[in-house]
Amino acid sequence: MLYQRSSALFEAAKKVIPGGVNSPVRAFKSVGGKPVFVEKAKGAYLHDVDGNRLIDYISSWGPMILGHAKEEVINAIAQQAKKGTSYGMPTALETEIAELVVSLVPNIDKVRFVNSGTEACMSAVRLARGYTHREKIIKFAGCYHGHSDAFLIQAGSGAITFGAPNSPGVTQGTAKDTLLGDYNDLASVEAVFQQYPDEVAAIIIEPVAGNMGCIPPEPGFLEGLRTLCDQYGALLIFDEVMTGFRLGLGGAQERLGVNADIATYGKVVGGGLPVGAFAARTEIMQELAPDGPVYQAGTLSGNPLAMIAGLTTLQLLQANKELFTRLDGKTLQLHEGMKTLINEKGIPHQFNRFGSMLSLHFTEEKVTDFASACHADNELFKSYFHGMLERGVYLPPSAFESYFLNDALTAEDIAFTLEAFQDWLKTI
Ligand SMILES: *Cc1c(COP(=O)(O)O)cnc(C)c1O
Repeated sequence: MLYQRSSALFEAAKKVIPGGVNSPVRAFKSVGGKPVFVEKAKGAYLHDVDGNRLIDYISSWGPMILGHAKEEVINAIAQQAKKGTSYGMPTALETEIAELVVSLVPNIDKVRFVNSGTEACMSAVRLARGYTHREKIIKFAGCYHGHSDAFLIQAGSGAITFGAPNSPGVTQGTAKDTLLGDYNDLASVEAVFQQYPDEVAAIIIEPVAGNMGCIPPEPGFLEGLRTLCDQYGALLIFDEVMTGFRLGLGGAQERLGVNADIATYGKVVGGGLPVGAFAARTEIMQELAPDGPVYQAGTLSGNPLAMIAGLTTLQLLQANKELFTRLDGKTLQLHEGMKTLINEKGIPHQFNRFGSMLSLHFTEEKVTDFASACHADNELFKSYFHGMLERGVYLPPSAFESYFLNDALTAEDIAFTLEAFQDWLKTI
């Protein structure tokens, strides 16, 4: 495949945009090479500016669960656009999507819409702190909750629980309030609580992790976090930005049968437009401005174009509940097919799959947390990524990202993908 125009566009972009991209993973740093620039997308396919067709396994990192440019969603956006694109005043649409979300998601009474998953998580933590009158939070190494300061924290040297900034610009002061646990390791969380029994406002977690590849929670882990939160008076925040409306209409809470106190959303909830949301029971949400003292706001929050895209997407999901089973089936089919091929070749690997999330790590060791995800062979991943891209299959350009399947993918697309995989395997 040729990428001349993509290449030229990337060079031009780098002159005026840092790294040529508006979100770092798009720059292909961890796989090398140059990013592919998109011309348009329809259904399961991306069409790049050089005329290549790629089967898309990212679905815009999740939102395009129905496939790209879904007719009903596009029409709804177009109709709304004619009526104006932003008012800075309330609309009935906001209530309509809020009613739908509240009816679909367990254990919530109210929802506030924002513009991104980052904002949702950042606001959820502020709300948890305001509600509990405590300052510290616990997050897990390898979980991503957006780019707000409190989350850009890595394990520091010395005491296991003491965080350190993992980006310049994040202050030590912020870092000291973010404590770290290890995913799937309840004892690591218990140790943090024992050290700070009265100071933890909340645990925030991806109930199925998708930002270190896909890592499902081991049986009892989320239940154990729920118990610890109750025991120590902390809130449990499920970051469902990836899992919400993907693992099912009620997200991970429903699918895994564990209730969170606050849930955050993004990606699918916006149907491909910039939307995030956070939700909780009334007793917690009433702390939020203008009802309560915890401040949160947004000029474009509840934007009518974004709300109609999200509402239409959620309505289509609700009307086609079998879609989730279908999507899980396709993911299983891809997983099983790839597993057979890679086993024949005898390459050490781990597949992790949950619902329509899937990832492949090149390692012998089970991948259950950030440390084990880091042990995988990234050189082989690079070859895999580019090998598949060359053959018309677009995978996440990092071993630390999950695949997100969409409903437009056909059995033929999956067969094509497996052929590409088999073909790549011959080259190594
Ligand atoms: C994508 C993501 C976010 C951040 O959402 P943005 O819309 O990119 O700000 C937060 N949490 C999780 C789990 C995510 O996958």
